[in-house]
Amino acid sequence: MKTDSFKLRHIGPSERDLRDMLTTIKADSIEQLIYETVPDDILLKEPLALAPSMSEQEYSAHIQKLSSKNKVYKTYIGLGYHEACLPPVIQRNILENPGWYTAYTPYQAEIAQGRLEALLNYQTMICDLTGMELANASLLDESTAAAEAMTMLFAVRSREQKKNNTNKFFVSEEILPQTLSLLQTRAIPLDIELVVGDHEQFDFSKEFYGAILQYPGKSGQVYDYANFVEKAHAEEIKVAVAADILSLVTLKSPGSFDADVVVGTTQRFGIPLGYGGPHAAFFATRSAYKRNIPGRIIGVTQDTNGNRALRMALQTREQHIKRDKATSNICTAQVLLAVMAGMYAVYHGPEGLQYIASKVHNSATTLSDSIEQLGFSQLNSIYFDTLRITADAQKIREIAETKEVNFYYPDSKTIVISLNEATTITNLNTIISIFAKAANKETIEIKEINPGENIQENIKRNSEFLTNEVFNSYHSETELMRYIKKLERKDLSLNHSMIPLGSCTMKLNAASEMLPLSDPQWGNIHPFVPIEQAEGYKEILNKLEEQLTEITGFAATSLQPNSGAQGEFAGLMVIRAYHESRGDHHRNICLIPSSAHGTNPASAVMAGMKVVVTKATEEGNIDVEDLREKALLHKDNLAALMVTYPSTHGVYESAIREITAIIHKNGGQVYMDGANMNAQVGITHPGAIGADVCHLNLHKTFAIPHGGGGPGVGPICIAKQLAPFLPGNPIIKTGGTEAISAISAAPWGSALACLISYGYITMLGAEGLRNATEYAILNANYIKERLDGHYDVLYVGEKGRAAHEMIVDCRPFKTNGIEVTDIAKRLMDYGFHAPTVSFPVAGTIMIEPTESESKAELDRFCDAMISIRSEIAEASADNTNNVMKNAPHTLAMLTADSWDFPYSREQAAYPLSYVADNKFWPTVRRVDDAYGDRNLICTCTPIEEYIEAEV
Ligand SMILES: *Cc1c(COP(=O)(O)O)cnc(C)c1O
Repeated sequence: MKTDSFKLRHIGPSERDLRDMLTTIKADSIEQLIYETVPDDILLKEPLALAPSMSEQEYSAHIQKLSSKNKVYKTYIGLGYHEACLPPVIQRNILENPGWYTAYTPYQAEIAQGRLEALLNYQTMICDLTGMELANASLLDESTAAAEAMTMLFAVRSREQKKNNTNKFFVSEEILPQTLSLLQTRAIPLDIELVVGDHEQFDFSKEFYGAILQYPGKSGQVYDYANFVEKAHAEEIKVAVAADILSLVTLKSPGSFDADVVVGTTQRFGIPLGYGGPHAAFFATRSAYKRNIPGRIIGVTQDTNGNRALRMALQTREQHIKRDKATSNICTAQVLLAVMAGMYAVYHGPEGLQYIASKVHNSATTLSDSIEQLGFSQLNSIYFDTLRITADAQKIREIAETKEVNFYYPDSKTIVISLNEATTITNLNTIISIFAKAANKETIEIKEINPGENIQENIKRNSEFLTNEVFNSYHSETELMRYIKKLERKDLSLNHSMIPLGSCTMKLNAASEMLPLSDPQWGNIHPFVPIEQAEGYKEILNKLEEQLTEITGFAATSLQPNSGAQGEFAGLMVIRAYHESRGDHHRNICLIPSSAHGTNPASAVMAGMKVVVTKATEEGNIDVEDLREKALLHKDNLAALMVTYPSTHGVYESAIREITAIIHKNGGQVYMDGANMNAQVGITHPGAIGADVCHLNLHKTFAIPHGGGGPGVGPICIAKQLAPFLPGNPIIKTGGTEAISAISAAPWGSALACLISYGYITMLGAEGLRNATEYAILNANYIKERLDGHYDVLYVGEKGRAAHEMIVDCRPFKTNGIEVTDIAKRLMDYGFHAPTVSFPVAGTIMIEPTESESKAELDRFCDAMISIRSEIAEASADNTNNVMKNAPHTLAMLTADSWDFPYSREQAAYPLSYVADNKFWPTVRRVDDAYGDRNLICTCTPIEEYIEAEV
């Protein structure tokens, strides 16, 4: 046993397990299994060309050495990113705790009440600070949230505006540069016309449907927008405000001046800069738009007993249901970061936040006074934390950099300085000394921060916020530590049992991959620092791009997209730019198989394409004849095919090369959805199947933890002809030679999270990666074999093998009155999270074990499934009082004085012996989704208000 091999720790089955498992599935060797599973013509002949694998110890030394190449300067660049103080209690108990970071998106609400509560806190915090009625549980970053605001307001235009094709959107020139770039990206395909200008000169013409303002402006000036909003509303122009979350503690809320949408980032609420992310953005609006809001909303409902319970409300499965009519393509968001930011507010409470906001503001006024005393003029008349100073930028920059300080220099005569929670008096004195030196004067040393105030009454917040008990109870570390633990215990994560979610690849997120994320040498780098200060990042991001390019068999990679769905959008925009560069402006048809993930059609529509659905055969494969016919029919306008491989049915379609050839012959490009890449790495690749671009979900295949619903990283890897169009960034040069505008706010998206995938690939190496894929396929086929005779697997390959996942048919159990949901809920009693439910086929479950699960865990899961199968057999459609329909069973039910169910307590809670040894208790009974949707409550309001809620 090679104890220094990371592969040993990442892959679940031991060598002995392997022999037993091969016997069970009747294969002589793994090679034979792969030969029987993957079509011959796409198998790679050579191993991946990657550097030799490192042990965990070697990697730790390696990553530390790289981190020392990053220069952590004191950075006051601002522009939506600020150094933040992550409370250690949150770092240790959430960020570094697999109980939190390995959880899945809370679809199974009964075993997710902890993170649902944490997210409800987050939504409440956002509603309070923005003054809005409704907030979602996070978006990807401020700039994409702003773009979502622009498109949502476009979708809710009045009938009149739609009839007149009112398509202009006003963008204040005070908007952050990266947000402007993103608005451009998203506006083009929808034919929205952006007009950038000075909001004080805006003429409120009827040609506009909406506007967006930055609050405070990008250089720190605070404007009173009340007048603007009033005039806009008079002309039916809706107004979005991109707001700084900390300033809202001090400034009047956008809700109080009647804004329609408020967006921003919660990064400065304790989240490391991480060279750009991950951070949670927020999106708040009127409740009138509750059905249009992008992303997920957490809401209050009740369980079977009428007890309060939480779950994802309304458009939870938005894309799966509405597909090309979906309001957005947001699937993975930033749950872990939203949980942390919400917890920051819980820890500090309203008074703590007030203290922090005043400290930051008073630091700014104190600094402004000193710099003015030195003879410089500070231009912002009203500001919260950001000063704008006229001086020789070049000169200041030279001095500042020798003192390891970064400012923002928008032009040669302007210096912008944004202060933050971490700024100390010593730091202020350093800043003053820089200006003194530039002026050739003696510096002024300040001893304390003066309580000077710069904000006028008319723009000051005068309403309370965070009055709820949760924000006023946990201000000591002991109390917060216990509160976090209390929530954690309600949630089932990978540190309890396997989470066999098809398409989601819930594999090990190794501690050695996660450790560097806690290091400030990685955490405390602003995304817009001069590139020479981020040499460590540059090296790993370059290497990761190279690794992914090799793994996909393509020519180049962009790490910018912050989720798989953003990758889809990015890839399609790149295809669009490619067609346009060849004069093919008309190519806008996107073929999508009926079995595709719902984000595919949603992304295609965002990229301005028209979706044409192609059929599947009985066996679950793409109907090649139908595809050929449609490709031919649309050959003059064909833009792309979006195809998932192996298919969402868990099969390596043998016709894949024929399929991609048909598309190419008819002038289209092939987009491969890479969510199933865990079945390809080292064995085949998108290049080999003939695709042109794919996204990868680094949060699936490449070991970034799911975080309870994010962060995600969705890079796109592309063939040579598409490379010039990789997305850019307006501040830091990145992307192709003819780069499309930004897909995410930061040049490399969520750079900090990329460290995890870099660690994963570097420690596994070519052989380990290939083995991971092989064992993922082995584990799936082992489950398939063990469930044989108990359940029917819907689709298999030509030689009867599953790929890395399989769909199990639950529809026949309807005769016993059992639905697929009952199986999902009953699995909780056995200590398991359900597989994926009803995707891609309604009434089925899709099981994906991944390579990280051992034979012992697979056996427990299979035992549970088989035991449930006999419970299904005993159930009858005439009597719903049975162990399946009543599942899950809570501790309160089991310990109640009365028990009037027609089965024993033991059968309810300890149906198999392994369960007793490691029991997980769902904390609520089955939640009532419909009740909560009729009575939408999305903040932690007191229970009395919740009963009187609007219907
Ligand atoms: C997960 C998934 C997506 C979406 O990825 P996100 O990161 O959640 O946006 C797209 N397609 C398939 C097949 C998936 O499984």
